[in-house]
Amino acid sequence: MPLLTSWVTSANDPDHPFPLNNLPYGVFSTTSYEPRCGVAIGDMILDLQAAEETGLVRLTDEPLFQVPYWNDLMEQGPAVWTALRNRLQTLLALGAPEQPDVEPLLVPAHTAELHMPFAVSEYTDFYAGKHHAINVGTMFRGPENALPPNWLHVPIGYNGRASSVVVSDTPVRRPWGQLKGPQDAHPRWAPSARFDIELEIGAIVGTSSDGPLSVQDADDHIFGYVLLNDWSARDIQAWEYQPLGPFQAKATATSISPWIVTKAALEPFRCSAPERDVELLDHLKDCGPMLYDIDLDITLAPSGQSDTTISRTNSKELYYSAAQQLAHHSSCGCPMNSGDLLGSGTISGENAHSRGSLLELAWGGKDPIQLDSGETRSFVEDGDTLTLKGTARGDGYNIGFGDCRGTLLPALTDPFKR
Ligand code: MN
Repeated sequence: MPLLTSWVTSANDPDHPFPLNNLPYGVFSTTSYEPRCGVAIGDMILDLQAAEETGLVRLTDEPLFQVPYWNDLMEQGPAVWTALRNRLQTLLALGAPEQPDVEPLLVPAHTAELHMPFAVSEYTDFYAGKHHAINVGTMFRGPENALPPNWLHVPIGYNGRASSVVVSDTPVRRPWGQLKGPQDAHPRWAPSARFDIELEIGAIVGTSSDGPLSVQDADDHIFGYVLLNDWSARDIQAWEYQPLGPFQAKATATSISPWIVTKAALEPFRCSAPERDVELLDHLKDCGPMLYDIDLDITLAPSGQSDTTISRTNSKELYYSAAQQLAHHSSCGCPMNSGDLLGSGTISGENAHSRGSLLELAWGGKDPIQLDSGETRSFVEDGDTLTLKGTARGDGYNIGFGDCRGTLLPALTDPFKR
């Protein structure tokens, strides 16, 4: 599919992240407006609340966009999702007769503040990056036992906290936590000294379900994707994770990018999962290309300094698709809700510069990474800004994700000290 041209001329730049082919969904406010639903097109945001009020966009009897989140639209299901996308592409296409009516509803993106695009119902994080699982397993258990015996059969995950999910540009505070003492000494209560990031893609469940979903049904339930940074305190994690998995290590914050890139916009970038090392059980078997070819970058900027790109990878490195994760998630009867967020797990490539966490990039602190400024990093330091970027590269156009960015603030004084 080529670039679809729009009368919003900035959207026709082949390098722009938000052409007419994309149309990602977000929530924005300005000095004149409270938070409301909007659609990014080039350098502008289409005010969808106003478009509905004026009758330019009307999909159902009940209004869908008089609320500052996309959940009401998501709950309508795939037919209404398609109707909205078709209507927006018609209104914004070059030569659209509605241009004079739509133009006053555009807001320059640089004047807008972005908010959480949807209300997160529940949040689950998976572990579907094979290179990541091998790297972490090698560091913690040695190369012979790197992959746990279940890993090639089941998409491993844990139930996270919806309350900890924040939108890009929300500062993150270094947590205090219980850390393992040296040798057999008593554990300590101290600020995390090994605070890390995890480069992930977040899948958003659009429609609810009650009972097991096939992989194909699960794919049909997914509404869209965001970039996701699962901030992780490695020293807290190392002490607490056995036997029930991570808990407080992942409780500080999970950042997501502000624009939901729809599954429809990503259709041209579908690709197959890697060859299976062992056959999957029937209910988890691949039934079509359900991963995506999306270039992913991580940059790190120390306080007051410019970005260094510290990793480049691609979401096709994942071993399990979001559809397989969702099928597994529902397989024992767990009801899934509209607005559920599923983190993919850290995405790492095969080589040393394509790893999705500082833990792997600096190999547990043994091999610190070099920044352009000459500084080195093993873990995130106070004042560092970490940014995840994602781009699917089409034929003469890009499908960009909004950046997923967060700055680490220093730990407060001991929260329990009086
Ligand atoms: Mn994670």
